[in-house]
Formats: sequence, C-alpha cells, structure tokens
Amino acid sequence: MPKHKNRTLGTRTLAPETLMMGYGYDPALSEGAIKTPIFQASTFVFKSAEDGKRFFEVAYGLREKDPDEALGLIYSRINNPNLEILEDRLSVWDAADRTLVFSSGMAAITTAVLAVSRPGDIVLYTAPAYGGTEYLFDRILPRYGVEARAVPAGEGSAVLNEAIQTAAEDAAVRGGRLAAVFVESPANPTNELVDIAQTARDLAALNQAERPVLAVDNTFLGPLWQRPLALGADLALYSLTKYVGGHSDLIAGACMGRADIMAQVAEMRTIGGSMADPHTAWLLTRSLETLHLRMERSQVNAITLAERLTGHSKVVEVLTAGGALASAEQQRIFAEQCAGPGSTLSIRLNGGEAEAFRFLDSLTLFKLAVSLGGSESLASHPSSMTHSDYTSEAKARCGIGDNLVRLSVGIENVEDLWVDLAQALDRI
Ligand SMILES: *Cc1c(COP(=O)(O)O)cnc(C)c1O
Repeated sequence: MPKHKNRTLGTRTLAPETLMMGYGYDPALSEGAIKTPIFQASTFVFKSAEDGKRFFEVAYGLREKDPDEALGLIYSRINNPNLEILEDRLSVWDAADRTLVFSSGMAAITTAVLAVSRPGDIVLYTAPAYGGTEYLFDRILPRYGVEARAVPAGEGSAVLNEAIQTAAEDAAVRGGRLAAVFVESPANPTNELVDIAQTARDLAALNQAERPVLAVDNTFLGPLWQRPLALGADLALYSLTKYVGGHSDLIAGACMGRADIMAQVAEMRTIGGSMADPHTAWLLTRSLETLHLRMERSQVNAITLAERLTGHSKVVEVLTAGGALASAEQQRIFAEQCAGPGSTLSIRLNGGEAEAFRFLDSLTLFKLAVSLGGSESLASHPSSMTHSDYTSEAKARCGIGDNLVRLSVGIENVEDLWVDLAQALDRI
C-alpha cells in the first residue's frame, strides 16, 4: 500500500477527518507540493505506446484492472488527478467501493439513473424530491420509455414496499424491470425520513431476477450524519454544491457505491462527459478538510435555533429530521439511521404567504436565496420558489404550505442569528 493510500496508523484505523488532509495524494509526484496542484490539462502523455494500450483496455472495459493497478491517466473526460484524489477522499466518508464526481448534483443523478434503466423499466422515487430530480423523473425519463412513479416519503415503509411489489409486477408484464428505487431522505423541505435499511431489505426479498438498485440522495445529511451505503443502499448521490462544497461558490455532484454499478455509471459519465472540471475538484478537495467543522458547527447552531423557534408565538411548527413533533415511527427511523439532524430546517409561520414574505424580507443576516449547506445562513419560500411548479394538490400532499419557510443555518455566531430571526418574527 503506498503511504498516501494508507488508512491506518499502527493498529488504529484513521478517521475520515484525518484522512482529508492528504489521502490519495503523493507529494513526490508534484515537486513535493504540500497541497495538490491543479492539473489543468486535457490530455496526458503516455510513457510508451504499450502503456497507452493498457490504459485504454481498462478504460473501455476490455480487461479487468489488476488489483493494485491504478487506471493510467488518459484524457480529462475519462480521468484527471484532481478528480481522482477528490473521488478517493469522498469514498472514505461513505466507505464506497468507488466514487465519481460530476459537474453538478443533477449531472450525477441523471447519469446514474440513465446508467441503470432502459426502455420498459419503472423507477420509483420518494416525493417530495429535489425539483430537478422530479423534473427528470416525471418529464424526461418517459421520453425514453422509462416510467417514474412517486411514493410520498412520509407514508412509511409498508406503503413503499407495496409500491415496490406493484411496480415490479407491472414492469414484468411489459418485459421490463423495476430498475431502481430512488430515495431522498430527509425529504426537502419537510424533513420526513425514509427507512433506508428497511427499503434495502424489501428490495432484497423482491421476486425479480435482477435486484433493483437502491439509490439515496444524501445531500442533506451526508456524509457526516447519514451513511446510506452502510444501511444497505447500492448508490449514494450528492449535490456537492451544498455541504461538501460548503461556501456557495461552486456547482458539483457525486455518485458513489458498489463497484459493479459504478462501472455502469462510469461508462455513462465518460460518454456523456458530465464529469467535474479540475479546478472545481480542487476547490472541493480543499473544502473537505473543513467539512466536519462546518457541519458540526452549523448543526449545533441549527439545534439551538430550532429549540428557540419551537413555542415562539409566531411559529406554528418547526420541522427537523426526527424532531420532537415527528411521529414515533419517524423518531425510530431517525434513531436508527441518522447521527444528527443536520442544519436545514423548515418552519410554519402563523399566517400565510404575506406573513412569510414579510418575515423573509425582514431578515438581514439570513440571505434570501435557494440552496443550502453553505457557510452563510439562507432562507427561502418553497411554495413560491423551489416547489412553485407543484400543483396545489401535490403541495397539500407534501405539506408545502404558503406559510412554510426553509432555513439553511450556517456557521455564524448563533446569538447573532437568533437576533435576526427574532426581529423578523416580530414584524409579521
Ligand atoms: C441541490 C440539490 C440537488 C441538485 O444539485 P445541483 O448541484 O444543483 O445540480 C439534488 N438533490 C438535492 C437534495 C439538492 O439539494
């Protein structure tokens, strides 16, 4: 094992936050530079024609890699040192066989879904899901003969399992398969949880020749507070734009998981060209060094704010993952599945859209913007912004009212944040 790929010290297995400082990077290959240079190159020079031939054999799947063989560098659509170092470090957190990084979270999701589905198949997903994800499922996949079906996230495992059984039967009738179950947990913006381990067990017990892929969008709690692969998922997906990037200054995504499925995703990424660029990968590698500090601090801030918002006269309800007001079932899932509630929460205000808008327009530290997981705090209005294309029935079903405000809590001083929330609540 080369030193820079060593994950142990003596008998101790090193923690992910320690490995983020240097794992996967050999300074000797870059003039001893302590940090990774940016490999801003489109193509890589082969030492010999024989090397070029061997690298392509692996890249195009003509032969299996030897266990210790690294895929040689060919061309930055296929691989690049900045992407590989970032991918190796991301794999550490979720104990993934393999990770691939993409130009956006949506590029990761689209590439993965296209890689595992084909005409005649059905894909199930838990709703509400991220807007772009729902658009992909409802409006784009059907053009390619793949049917997407939504299952409400908060209805519990029994309802999801029933949908799984029905979808597999319906797909079989037309010669297709239930190709995948796509879970977003916690759901955005309601923070309802889906039982990942139970869904994995239900899929394992399903009577279908090929087991459907269980894919989990882990953007909200990962990689610190939820590890879908350890719970039995095959793939974990990320918008790295959010917590992992963490500074609201880039767009990127990741897909990670089981080696055999990742090989299919890699093929699709190589041909679709949806990989991240070297500079973005470099920024993300830098962000990973402080990921745990940022996620820990923003979570502590969010817990404090959620406690103070609960019971405030202008606040009807505070929605956090597995929170005090969640059902016993939701709290059980939280206890088994999550190491913390993260720092994205929603509040229902006393009133409707007018009150919500007055609240949002009165905030000064919380910036009025969609997105989440950055170092700064953000606030948004799902009903008129991220979820504005929902029908009123869909909004009602998913609990997205006009009085709902989503907060992404950052790493500022928590007393300052509270003063901002309190003064804005006073004005509604
Ligand atoms: C933002 C987000 C996405 C999409 O990611 P992009 O990087 O914007 O493409 C997907 N899923 C969730 C849960 C998100 O929050």
